[in-house]
This record gives sequence, structure tokens and C-alpha cells, in this order.
Amino acid sequence: MTIRSCLRQLGSVTLAVALLCCATRPALSGTPPKTLTASDLIAQAEHVGTSYRHQLPEILEKLHKIEHQLTPEQRLHLEYFDTLASQHSGNNAATIKLYERVVHQTKDLSLSVRARARLTAMYLNNSNNYLKAYTLANTLLEDYPKITDARTRFNVLIAVTRVKEAQEQYDKALTYVEEMETLATSKQRLCTARAFHTQILFYKGGSLASTQAAYEDAVATCLSADLVAHANALRLDRASMMDDAGHPDQAIELLQRIAPSIHKIGVQTQIASLHVTFAQAYLLQKKYALAKKSALAALASNNPGDYNWTLESAYKVLYKTAQKQGDPATALTMYQKYIDQYKATTDDAQAQAMAYQMVKQDVLAKKLKLEELSKQNKILQLRQSLDRKSAETSRLYILLLLFVLASIGFWAYRTKHSQLRFRRMAREDDLTGTFNRQHFLDCASRLLQRMQKTDNEACLMILDMDHFKRVNDMYGHITGDVVLKHVTNICRHELRTSDVFGRLGGEEFGILMPGCTPQQGKEVGDRMRRALVNAPIQVLENESLTITASIGLASTRTSGYQLKRLLVHADEALYEAKRNGRNQLMISSGAASPETAAQPG
Ligand code: GH3
Ligand code: MG
Ligand code: MG
Repeated sequence: MTIRSCLRQLGSVTLAVALLCCATRPALSGTPPKTLTASDLIAQAEHVGTSYRHQLPEILEKLHKIEHQLTPEQRLHLEYFDTLASQHSGNNAATIKLYERVVHQTKDLSLSVRARARLTAMYLNNSNNYLKAYTLANTLLEDYPKITDARTRFNVLIAVTRVKEAQEQYDKALTYVEEMETLATSKQRLCTARAFHTQILFYKGGSLASTQAAYEDAVATCLSADLVAHANALRLDRASMMDDAGHPDQAIELLQRIAPSIHKIGVQTQIASLHVTFAQAYLLQKKYALAKKSALAALASNNPGDYNWTLESAYKVLYKTAQKQGDPATALTMYQKYIDQYKATTDDAQAQAMAYQMVKQDVLAKKLKLEELSKQNKILQLRQSLDRKSAETSRLYILLLLFVLASIGFWAYRTKHSQLRFRRMAREDDLTGTFNRQHFLDCASRLLQRMQKTDNEACLMILDMDHFKRVNDMYGHITGDVVLKHVTNICRHELRTSDVFGRLGGEEFGILMPGCTPQQGKEVGDRMRRALVNAPIQVLENESLTITASIGLASTRTSGYQLKRLLVHADEALYEAKRNGRNQLMISSGAASPETAAQPG
């Protein structure tokens, strides 16, 4: 994915805001009773949520009148609703502070979760604070199994899906979307779930054609729920995808169709997005005057001092059109503004979001290098064309361009610097914090070579959780993830720092224990199994689950020092343990089975 499309995706505030708003119940029916207690009013406010925000001020006014009677916890609820009612006033920093206050002070899990879900979305969309968004999303996932209320669960799913989307972990995001769809009892929720589904499928690498049916389905669902703004957000994203896929004509046709509706509803971010998507399409069609006009309209629909993807794209279009129209002075000014926007929306933390997988980071570094090179090339071109003009002016332009080049260079350096940090992160498994498969294999084979040289023995264990599919099936994937983390923590506790512990895939872990006899390895493995049985995990409000695991053990004493061979033998022993009824450890005899014997090494 390109940085630009990633930015757009991350900055798709229109959709994000719209989506968070719809995860609520239908409006209250009937007239409320005459005398209402504080708890009644709070229950009402909770019921009304954000979709029916116009009803919220009236309830809040009543609550404020009896504010002196409220308990501290009820006061925090009131504070939460006050923040909710004013969330879209535009003062994001203040809203974030208020939600943070609620999160820190409340002892009510449901309130805390709701406030954290909103905060996550705000960190992601409004303050580019990706690190905080990730951290919060993890706490939400941990609390998810304890939440029973479907609406709160739905809100959590929206928040964590957006985070996974930002991390480009689309498969994970899709599992959350599936869970959303099962919770979608109203058309509004279905609209939200389907909107996410389409978007993720496209970003996951789908084409316009392959996602057309899902897109149409999502729009139809939103329209049938009367959520026109949601449908428009989807259509705006679709038009951008059409631009990206090289079909500006299709994009323009779609944009012209939805423009009246977007102007009528009047959501500022959607209007800016409309103009800039038009501008990009016209630029692709080489209609520079129209592109410029639309980009200027996009600038006009933002506030001074804003930094967001619509401004970044608008300046980019203006820079390119000025360049095409032979106006280097304007091109330079617009380029500088574009870079300013780009840098502001691409802070370190966001670079992290884009660079979550190392491969992506390398692409980013290459892209920066290319930009730097093409800038140098432009300097040379400009130098030539300006030679003909007055020496004074050309010197000025060249100086300015050199300045721009220097700032890009500095920026590239910073990105390179973060890249080293990300490389470290890329060794860890995102979910469990253990080594990921590749890093485990690398470390284990290095350690085995050392063991062989120094004539030390070692044990390799493969641990696989028993009947884990059932956990997913009965309690959902998110609870499955929580259980996985729980198991990892318990196992880690039994290991020494010199042991190598990694996730081989799914719910299967590898452990290499240097300096261990098979018997010592077995003792560690059995301790792990006992620790698991003794630490049931809470999966629902009133339900705990006891997890067991089976372990296969292979030793260098009988299998040699080849990692591949040890893995095969440990896997065979694991299979035996499963066949014998699970929750046990089996030691490989080291005798090669027919398949093993056929393997080289
Ligand atoms: P067995 O006792 O035979 O091992 O039964 P099992 O159900 O555990 O079977 P198996 O090991 O083949 O199944 C692994 C399951 O783990 C399948 C998959 O749905 C689930 N899984 C894999 N990765 C993840 C993950 O990251 N999160 C969650 N929640 N589930 C996962
Ligand atoms: Mg299993
Ligand atoms: Mg397995």
C-alpha cells in the first residue's frame, strides 16, 4: 500500500466518526416517566447514545440539575456523556483529556471500556497518536471477554478493527468484522460492519471489481437504514479507490452523483474529501484548471492551521498542476506546503503504523530515497531553465529548493533511525510478545550451533494448546486471543532467561532449553502444564475456563543438533501426546519415523 493511500485510510475521519456514531441502539420509544432518579437518567442517556445525540442534551440538563445528589461514579458517567455530547465540536485535545480523565477515575468496567473505545478512535483519527491507540486497543481486547453488553462489545470491535487496519493486519481485522456482523442486530450496525468489510477487503489487496459486490451491499444496507452520511463516506472512499486504480472517469462520475447529497448534509470533512477526490481525478485526466479549482475548494473548506490528508493531497495537486502549467514559483510554494502537511501527518508514531511490518518500512525508505533523487533531478532541470532568466531570481529558487531538499534529507534520516527501532519490534509476535517464528528459528539454530561446539546438550519442546478451536468457536476469536496471551504469560513464568521461547504459529509454541537433559526438560514442561491447569481464565462475566496443553519434547542427546530434525521429532512426540488423550508431555525416542528418515539432515 502506498503511504498516501495509507494516510487516507488512517485519516478517513468521515467514515470513522460516522461509524462510531451508529453503534448504538434505536431511539427510546414512548414518553419517559415523570419523576426520574439519577440512575434512570443515566440509563436513558446510555440508551440514547450518539445516534440520537439530539436527545442527549435534554437528559443531561436534567442530570445537571440533580448533580449534587450524584455519587462520584454517577458524576463520571455524566462527565462521559457531556464529553460525548460535545465530541464533534472540534476541540479534539479537550475531548481527549476529558475521556482520559473518565478512564483514569472510573471503577465501572463498562464505562471505562466505552471511554477507551472512543479514545482509541480519537488517538487514531484526530491526534495521530498511534502508540497510544495501539496500547489502548490491547487493553480493550483484554477486557472484551468480560463485557456482556452487545453495544459496548460492538464499539470495542470498531475501535480494535480500526487499529488492526492501521497496522495493516487485515486478516485480524476481518475476524473482528466477522464478530461485528454476528453482533449486528440492527441495520445501523450491519451498515457499519459491511462498510468496514468492504474497506478492509480493498486494502487487503482486492481490486475494484472483486470488492464491487461488497461495496454495493454496504451502501444499500446503509441507505436502507437511512444512514445517508455513512453511505456517502463509503462512496467517497470508493471514488478514491477508483483514482488509485487509475479510473478517474469512474471516480468523477460517482463524485458528481453524490456531490448534492454531501453538500446538503454538510459534514465539513466529507466536503473537503469530495473536493480533493475531484482534484485528484482531474489531475489524472490532465485537466489542470479543473484540478486546481477543486484543490483550492478543498483548501477553502478546511480551517487555517489544520493538518490532515485532504490538505496534504490538495497541496500536492496544486504543486503538480503549477509544475505542469509552467509556474515554478507557485510549484515551489505549494511543494513546501505539501511537505509541511506530509511531515505533520507522518510523525514518528505514524511511521510506526505504516512500518509495522519491516517489509513496508523498507518500501518507505526506498520511496524516500526516490523522492530525494527526483528532487535532485528537478534542481538540475530548474537550474537549466532558470539560467535563461535573471541570475538573481534563479539563485533564490535554487536556494529554496536546496532548503527543501535538505529538509527531506533530514526527514529521511529520521525515518531510517526509526527503522532500526522497528526492526527490533519486527522480531516479536504482535499478540503474545514472544519471538515470532522466524526469529525463534534464527535464535534456536544459532544457540544449537553453540551448544554443539561446547558439547552441551539441549531440549526442544513444542507446546500446542488442546482443543483450542473450541475456545474460538464458543467464545469468539478475541477471547481466543486473550486465552493465548494468558497461556503465554504462564509458560513464560516457568522459563529461564536463557531459554528461547517463540510462537511457531497459531496456538503452537517452541521452547529451546539450553543445558537441559530430557528429564529436566520434562520437569519444566510438566510444571507448565500444571501451572496452566491451576490458573483458569475468566472468559465471561461468570465463567472460567481451564486450558490444557500437550507437549512434545526432543533432545539433542537422541536427535542431534539439527534444528529441523529436532522440530520434526518434537512434533511427532506432540502428536503422540495428542493421540494419548492430551494434557501430557511425550519425549521423542529420537528414532526417525519413515517420513523423518526421508528428510535431509
Ligand atoms: P488439538 O487439541 O488437536 O490441538 O485441537 P485444536 O482445536 O487446538 O486444533 P489445532 O491446534 O489444529 O487448532 C488451532 C486453532 O487455533 C485453529 C485456529 O482457529 C486457532 N488459531 C490460530 N491462530 C489463532 C490466533 O491468533 N488467535 C485465535 N484466537 N485463534 C487462533
Ligand atoms: Mg491445538
Ligand atoms: Mg495447533
